[in-house]
Amino acid sequence: MRTQTTNYVARLFAGDLSAFGGPATDEAMAGHLRAEQMSLVLGYSVGIMLANACNAIVLAIALWPSPDRIAALIWAGAVAGAAIAFGLHSRAVRRITKPQFVSRRAMHRLVRNAFILGAAWGIVPVAFFADASTGGQLVITCLCSGMLAGGALAFATIPIAAIAFTAPIFLGIAICLGRNGDLAFLLIAFLVVAYGSVLLRGVFVNSFSFARRVTRQVEAERTVRQDPLTHLPNRVAFNETLDAALKRLALSGEEFAVLLLDLDRFKEVNDQFGHPAGDEFLVQVAGRLQRCTRAAEHVARIGGDEFALVMANLTRPEDALEIAERLVAAFDEPLRIDGRQIVGATSVGIVLAPRDGDTPLDLMKNADAALYRAKKAGPGTICFFEEVDDRASRDRKALQSDLAGAIARNELFLVFQPFLDLDDHRITGFEALLRWQHPSRGLVPPNEFIPIAEETGLIHEIGEWVIRRACATVALWPEEIRVAVNFSAAQFHNTAILQTIVRAIADARIAPHRLEIEITESMLLSKYGSAASVLNALLELGITVALDDFGTGFSSLTYLRKLPFSRIKIDQSFIRDMLAQPDCAAIVKSVVSLARDLDIGVVAEGVETADQLEYLRQIGCDEVQGYLISRPVAADGVMALLETKRVRMTYAA
Ligand code: C2E
Ligand code: MG
Ligand code: MG
Repeated sequence: MRTQTTNYVARLFAGDLSAFGGPATDEAMAGHLRAEQMSLVLGYSVGIMLANACNAIVLAIALWPSPDRIAALIWAGAVAGAAIAFGLHSRAVRRITKPQFVSRRAMHRLVRNAFILGAAWGIVPVAFFADASTGGQLVITCLCSGMLAGGALAFATIPIAAIAFTAPIFLGIAICLGRNGDLAFLLIAFLVVAYGSVLLRGVFVNSFSFARRVTRQVEAERTVRQDPLTHLPNRVAFNETLDAALKRLALSGEEFAVLLLDLDRFKEVNDQFGHPAGDEFLVQVAGRLQRCTRAAEHVARIGGDEFALVMANLTRPEDALEIAERLVAAFDEPLRIDGRQIVGATSVGIVLAPRDGDTPLDLMKNADAALYRAKKAGPGTICFFEEVDDRASRDRKALQSDLAGAIARNELFLVFQPFLDLDDHRITGFEALLRWQHPSRGLVPPNEFIPIAEETGLIHEIGEWVIRRACATVALWPEEIRVAVNFSAAQFHNTAILQTIVRAIADARIAPHRLEIEITESMLLSKYGSAASVLNALLELGITVALDDFGTGFSSLTYLRKLPFSRIKIDQSFIRDMLAQPDCAAIVKSVVSLARDLDIGVVAEGVETADQLEYLRQIGCDEVQGYLISRPVAADGVMALLETKRVRMTYAA
């Protein structure tokens, strides 16, 4: 009960409107509201203090003929002096930027000062009225009424301060007029009280609507600056923090660091466990990350799985490293989501300002480049920005813009690598592999430019070109030869892909079964959920689908059962080590027998030696692909390869 009362009194004197039945707010909002209230009062402060000083002087003049002149003079001197000093002080305070948060204690001080000033005026009628001339009494009445009205106006948003200021004046007037006993004076007292009540009511109405307006505005600003999922600051808020840090750097040379984080494997989590689990993952990660930072700093979520932190007032780069290490260590414990344990990780790129840049653009570009290197080095890596990152990122950017025009400039072409059937020793088809002949860099490998195409969305245009070109090419080959085309996950997220494929087949006038689509396991776990439906539609059209690089991703055998694949392609890493490492051999062997049981074809990728080929033949693998049979050849080399009896002769049993 006592604590409740103390709390109420604290709220009351802090200008909190809920103490008067106004809207209740949390402390952050209340602090912001106090800042707005205080700023309004400070805005009036020079006027208020000038009015006080002038009124005090007027009063001293009016009371000059009275016997209290000395006391009145001392009083006026004290009030005018205090008013001028306070006015000058608050002008100086206002020049500094407006605070976002004002403490309860600061508001207590304001209420106290309002009371002291009100009391100073409240003394006037009590001390000087009785002995003043009629003119002097008129002046006192006018001045006190004026101070009441002025006080109510100045504290129009803070009822408690308005009360603290006006109550002593009311009291003073009431005492002095009541003491007199004259009916006219009693009427004046009545009028002052009536006007005063109207004024105070006005103060309450105004302050409540002011509080509601500010609260709405703050909430609107909060939503603009807050990520709705994790409740962390969003990119807008982060940019503002970064701008503020840059301003402080320019003004006072205060150095700072920016830490950029990208969750490793988040996409896989999202894909494997679904969107709600992915969201929950992000929420938990956000909580953990925020606990690693210094009290006043906030990790912001600036993208799907990208987080960033501005570390202000950095004295040593080691401090940034220490926080980065804490952020990485936040993933030591797996996250518990829906009763499952999910392991997460993050990579961190760090830039130091001004060393690595002094504009938001430069800093973020360089942080991105450092993060890129960190991600390449593996989960949980922390990298400070270095000059090499800059070069690498410029290189990537250049490649990106070159790639945009590569199709138009005719720089892309396909090469074809055969599949050899081990039963009847003949070539059954070719895999189309994309090549980019860059005008100055020469041949750029697909592993370098396909990820760029995926990042920029160019993959859709390029993918369409590949499928059309592959279909047109296979149309020139014998009827029994198929062509396999690689697809990126990103391409499957575009539902127009089906039409593209159907049109390519129709335009090339080929039977659908001659086209095979190669997809990787990760595509089956697509967060867009369209992979399965697109796959089924393809299969209905008679197009076959092969599971590429089998064994390298989130291999889930259930997919093999659920989705009708025509073929599995065992990844070349298993084939390479198969003869040296028994566990690889065991995997290859069991995949081959699994495929046979499920009645699915199986291709071994990357066959380079005759021993490998022999082993695969023994365990019953259907087809092989690799440098031993042929390297990828240009389109016009395909017919020659098909006609070469050498292929058959060399590998005939
Ligand atoms: P992939 O689909 O697994 O293609 C097989 C890769 O292994 C090809 O590399 C091929 O040249 C290489 N290879 C074949 N036989 C051997 C061998 O005996 N030894 C070794 N060490 N390597 C062998 P490439 O052409 O560099 O392609 C790399 C990857 O780029 C492909 O892997 C595929 O994922 C992607 N890719 C290629 N063309 C396209 C395309 O048109 N679209 C998409 N989305 N991805 C493509
Ligand atoms: Mg492939
Ligand atoms: Mg492959």
